Amino acid sequence: MEFAFSKEQMKFRNSVASFAERELNHNLQAREQSSVFPRDLWNKCADFGIQGLALPKEYGGRGADALTTMLAMEALGYGCLDQGLLFSMHAQMWSVQAPILKFGTDEQRHQYLPRLCDGSYIAAHCMSEPGSGSDSFSLETRAKRKGGSYVLNGSKAFVTNGPFADLLLVFATVNRKNGLWGITAFLVDAKTNKGLIRGPKGEKLGLCTAQMGEVRLEDCEIPAQNILGKEGQGGAIFNYAMGLERSYILASTVGRMHRQLEECIDYSKTRRQFGKPIASFQLVSTRLVDMKLRLETSRLLLYRTAWLHSSDGVTAMDAAMAKLYISECAVQSALDAIQIHGARGISKDCQVERDLRDAVAARIYSGTSEIQRLMIARGLGLFVT
Ligand SMILES: Cc1cc2nc3c(=O)[nH]c(=O)nc-3n(C[C@H](O)[C@H](O)[C@H](O)COP(=O)(O)OP(=O)(O)OC[C@H]3O[C@@H](n4cnc5c(N)ncnc54)[C@H](O)[C@@H]3O)c2cc1C
Repeated sequence: MEFAFSKEQMKFRNSVASFAERELNHNLQAREQSSVFPRDLWNKCADFGIQGLALPKEYGGRGADALTTMLAMEALGYGCLDQGLLFSMHAQMWSVQAPILKFGTDEQRHQYLPRLCDGSYIAAHCMSEPGSGSDSFSLETRAKRKGGSYVLNGSKAFVTNGPFADLLLVFATVNRKNGLWGITAFLVDAKTNKGLIRGPKGEKLGLCTAQMGEVRLEDCEIPAQNILGKEGQGGAIFNYAMGLERSYILASTVGRMHRQLEECIDYSKTRRQFGKPIASFQLVSTRLVDMKLRLETSRLLLYRTAWLHSSDGVTAMDAAMAKLYISECAVQSALDAIQIHGARGISKDCQVERDLRDAVAARIYSGTSEIQRLMIARGLGLFVT
């Protein structure tokens, strides 16, 4: 078993972290307060090659392997304090780009992947609906065949990048009676579609610069060639996307946990009470020790999952374990970081306050912690409901 990264990987990791620190942090408080999505920074990331990290060079990507991609996304989270921006990027990379690469036709890949890599297009994944969240396959959005097209009607909720996405991967059923086997994935190009109506961006607890909103489809006519995969293959495409998303989406959070620990160590060495640095109190140092353990165990799960992606393939249980464990660790470590900072910790000027708000949603998106636990239990052969 080899735990070391190569010199080239570490050099690349460091270049990503310095890029993120240098280019992505200015005016964060202002853009966070007004929930503004930083399109200029999105483009900077595209120019640096972030969105295309895992895509083949043929489509404008970097062609990085799974571990290098994971390391780079972790480094991005280490350097960049704007977890909302990074979350928007993850949402596009794993749940839209990757399914297009795997299930798309040659034409679909060449049409969309280069634009998603170079930042000229932003994508959104539209599965959740007002009536279907965890029970995603009970969706109600319908697709009806009409000659050479499909007409989509329905409503999608909590869509990340929804308020402005250029390309939407929309899941709809062509026949509800067929259940899972009726679900079909459609590539909806916003520039060529009139029946696409976007709700206002929703205000939320954390990840404030990532925008999320409702997307309605009202007699939205999609050419039949915009089906991704085949009719009825939507469930498999969704599962594939979620397997990747659950594996990778918290890489940047792990990067942030690393930086957060360094900040907490520095603070506890300089903050003095009772004539001593607070780090010298065992009750404080124990918190730092627990944060370190959470960071390292999260990393191990993250890297193992990436390694599985590049070898035998990852199971639903592997991805669920990474997602569940890292998200729960991120919330607990953010709470510890606040506690170590005392009253400063809950001030809006303090990064750890933002860390907690950003971390909480991780227990919900890509499937809640309860759903991840169910998947792990099923992976263990337990027939739970
Ligand atoms: C920041 C953020 C971004 C998101 N982005 C997107 C996106 O881009 N595209 C998209 O399609 N969706 C997106 N979502 C939606 C997300 O996928 C859903 O929120 C998630 O699947 C949970 O669904 P729900 O919120 O409707 O909760 P519900 O499914 O209503 O669950 C409510 C509670 O009941 C629990 N519960 C439900 N079923 C069970 C069960 N069988 N056993 C035990 N407990 C259960 C849940 O764990 C939860 O605690 C996003 C969500 C968030 C928070």
